[in-house]
Amino acid sequence: MYIDGVNVLPLVVSQPGGNYNLGNRESCWIEVLVDCPGVTGLFTYGLPPQLQVKPGDIVSVPFGKQILGGIGIRLLTELPRDVPPEKVRNVEDVVSTGFFPQTYWELLNYVAAYYYTPLMQVIKVALPPGLLGRSQRRIRLVREAGEQEKRRQGRQGDKEDKGVLTAGFAHSPDFYSEAARQILDLLRSQPQGDYSFIYLQRQIRGAWRGVRELLQCGLVESYLEPPRFSQPKLQKAVTLIKNTFENDLTPRQREVLGVLRQRGGDMWQNELLQICHASSSILKNLAQKGYIIVDDREVLRNPVAGEEIKAEQIKLLTPAQTQVLETIQGLDGFATALLHGVTGSGKTEVYLQAIAPLLARGKSALVLVPEIGLTPQLTDRFRTRFGNKIIIYHSALSEGERFDSWRQMLTGEPQVVIGTRSAVFAPLSNLGVIILDEEHDSSFKQDSPIPTYHARTVARWRAELENCLLLLGTATPSLETWLSVKEGKREGVKEGRREGGKEITFSPTPSLPHSITPPLHHSPTPSLHHSPTPSLPHSPTPPLPHSPTPLPHSSHYLSLPERINSRPLPPVEIVDMRQELQQGNRSIFSRGLQTALRQIQERGQQGILFIHRRGHSTFVSCRSCGYVIECPHCDVSLSYHHTEKGAPQLLRCHYCNYGQAYPPNCPECSSPYLKFFGSGTQRVAQELAKQFPELRFIRFDSDTTRTKGAHRTLLTRFANGEADLLIGTQMLTKGLDLPQVTLVGVVAADGLLHLSDYRASERAFQTLTQVAGRAGRGEDVGRVIVQTYTPEHTVIEAVREHDYYGFVAGELEQRQVLNYPPYGRLILLRLSSIDPVLVQNTAQIIATALPQQEGLDILGPAPASILRVANRYRWQILLKFAPDNLPNLPKWEDIRQLCPPSVSLTIDVDPVNIM
Ligand code: ADP
Ligand code: ZN
Ligand code: ZN
Repeated sequence: MYIDGVNVLPLVVSQPGGNYNLGNRESCWIEVLVDCPGVTGLFTYGLPPQLQVKPGDIVSVPFGKQILGGIGIRLLTELPRDVPPEKVRNVEDVVSTGFFPQTYWELLNYVAAYYYTPLMQVIKVALPPGLLGRSQRRIRLVREAGEQEKRRQGRQGDKEDKGVLTAGFAHSPDFYSEAARQILDLLRSQPQGDYSFIYLQRQIRGAWRGVRELLQCGLVESYLEPPRFSQPKLQKAVTLIKNTFENDLTPRQREVLGVLRQRGGDMWQNELLQICHASSSILKNLAQKGYIIVDDREVLRNPVAGEEIKAEQIKLLTPAQTQVLETIQGLDGFATALLHGVTGSGKTEVYLQAIAPLLARGKSALVLVPEIGLTPQLTDRFRTRFGNKIIIYHSALSEGERFDSWRQMLTGEPQVVIGTRSAVFAPLSNLGVIILDEEHDSSFKQDSPIPTYHARTVARWRAELENCLLLLGTATPSLETWLSVKEGKREGVKEGRREGGKEITFSPTPSLPHSITPPLHHSPTPSLHHSPTPSLPHSPTPPLPHSPTPLPHSSHYLSLPERINSRPLPPVEIVDMRQELQQGNRSIFSRGLQTALRQIQERGQQGILFIHRRGHSTFVSCRSCGYVIECPHCDVSLSYHHTEKGAPQLLRCHYCNYGQAYPPNCPECSSPYLKFFGSGTQRVAQELAKQFPELRFIRFDSDTTRTKGAHRTLLTRFANGEADLLIGTQMLTKGLDLPQVTLVGVVAADGLLHLSDYRASERAFQTLTQVAGRAGRGEDVGRVIVQTYTPEHTVIEAVREHDYYGFVAGELEQRQVLNYPPYGRLILLRLSSIDPVLVQNTAQIIATALPQQEGLDILGPAPASILRVANRYRWQILLKFAPDNLPNLPKWEDIRQLCPPSVSLTIDVDPVNIM
């Protein structure tokens, strides 16, 4: 921004604040992220005295022989040691300020600091590629004197001075340089008075200087036009224009026209050619003969275009929903609310009705979901409710789609962004609410690469910075969320309540393992003392921000203890598979499940069979010598894959995706008797086909849902009754709402229960509860059958009783004893290398170098539970400490120095997956 504040943008969403050392001349340099293909890293530039630059400003800088756009990232008070002063060039100009809200940059800085990640890496996660390059700087005349006047009055200090100058200038253009005059003339000759800067540069020599002069006296303004839809995507369409087929046609041409006519006379070219097995030359001929026209038509790059969406009515809320919604609407400013609603209790409807009034007030909403592909139903419901205000954003979008979405977000219009983890960085301004649906889901955590952020943690900071509500919805709250809301409770909000007939009492617990709390500008209570000016982290891997004092804010527990229409939760029957075996049943289906499967078919109902794949993979072994076929690159057995009849039988590695043909003989002893074990989806499908030949089923797993849109297609087929059963893995747990489903069978719960991870129980409980929750959502009562070899396991018992509270109480107790999250905090150092000895030694060296101290447990180094993946050997060191008593953590740059180049080190903060 110029000192006189002239070049204010239409996009400005500036926040009061000024924590960036405005006017502080101590900062004489700025690090700039330059937008140039192939160039990475930050470059240091000097700040000329007349320019005032804030982090987040878009600047133009000399770079080699060019002038490039870039983002000012960080002010420096001293020049980095390795930068020779004589080499430092100055920032040319500020193109735009406030392209993103200031809070946005603060957020990125927090992420960088908390997750020990260079800011650059964070920016890369947050911004789509090429954003700046495609934004265009434009210069336009400032026309209305009135407006200009207003601007001037807004300025502090040198008002009169500038006023005189401007007025004088307007009448005597020759007062200024030749370039300035030429630019003015050019702009005035154009009806809008508006040209791209590049154009001006091409037309006029010294345009830089000229524009600068004009900007300084307020005659023109400079703005950044957000990138337009890059080229619209076009596709060829064929239209029949002559309906009588004459003798000039060959039989082949006649055939093609016949198909076209049959389909209504208007088709996409590629579709027509595909159906007729024809080439485009035949169409050229037909066009020449005047039968058809081939033209380009725009296809919108809408990821769900062409999919039909049923209209949905706004629902009359149940009393419980109403109460929840009223509480939500009564909240003002930053607050966290846990919406704990059993499966099928109507959480989505609450989200929809909470968002609607916000949009009407010009605010936007951010909705994060575990996986877009798995939740077509949810996105559809949002679409039917909010139409084109919905933007879908996730990393599986094409670059063009991502880019178009971004462009739309930057307009500042009220809108709803639905996306996965990385959408937490969606550059929406004026946020009214952030919603995390299925907040317990581990896909919100990024394990690698850095930053290893958790979208829930980032969302919390963001809500705080934007002063809005964070709404966490789930049937099975994560222990972190549960505890934090419980803690929040003690800070004043109502205590002790009846939920679903159960009295919940909150016992005092050690203080909350709050992640850092970014300081606020808009602190609700000024008497609270937290530093109002966060200093920007000054090293590439900044230290953990100290002062983790959680800001007392309102945190609320909202409960939907019942399903819609008081439908009961489905009863859960536990089947002890040991007894089945004892009583002579060798099938993977217990007798109870077999009966139930027969019943759904008789009654015309539908069922879901859940298979936990991991830990129960379909490994292949030799019956003669016992040899197990393993991945040559990883320490795991290969899994048997057979997608369909006639397709080749494959062995595949689930860790590195290595594949090989199923061998006819044992590689070890050449015996032909190979056998595959386990109960993956394929195995279950085969058993099913054998035992229940009449049952029609659809497999829903990573083999069958590989192609784009496959999730939706399969689910639609199932919903249309094309099959009796849906067989699948984890994917089935997320958000399916199919009223015809009455039976849910869990083939073997054990794979979930016995994982060597302190979170295994929590995850197993969540998964089983979610799967069970797919049953009985419609008129007919549901039932759930869980097969297991350990029916006495606490998780199984809690699932049977639908007893979240009991489960959580027991689980929290254990975590507390062992000081695991949410009580203790963890940092996991993951090391990997192709050299097994080197990585082990490095791990040892690092562990020794870590400061020994009270309150810091150093566990390991230990090999990861699967030592080798994709030829890399993996070791890890786990640090455990109390959140309210931060130990002196080492400087991570120093630790990195201990790693030879061939050993990679990832610092996973608050790891979720520590296997
Ligand atoms: P959840 O997200 O809690 O699992 P959903 O929002 O999917 O639950 O709601 C379950 C079902 O109940 C859906 O089919 C939804 O359309 C329906 N539903 C939600 N709220 C109402 C309501 N107030 N009246 C009638 N049906 C409702
Ligand atoms: Zn063998
Ligand atoms: Zn492998």
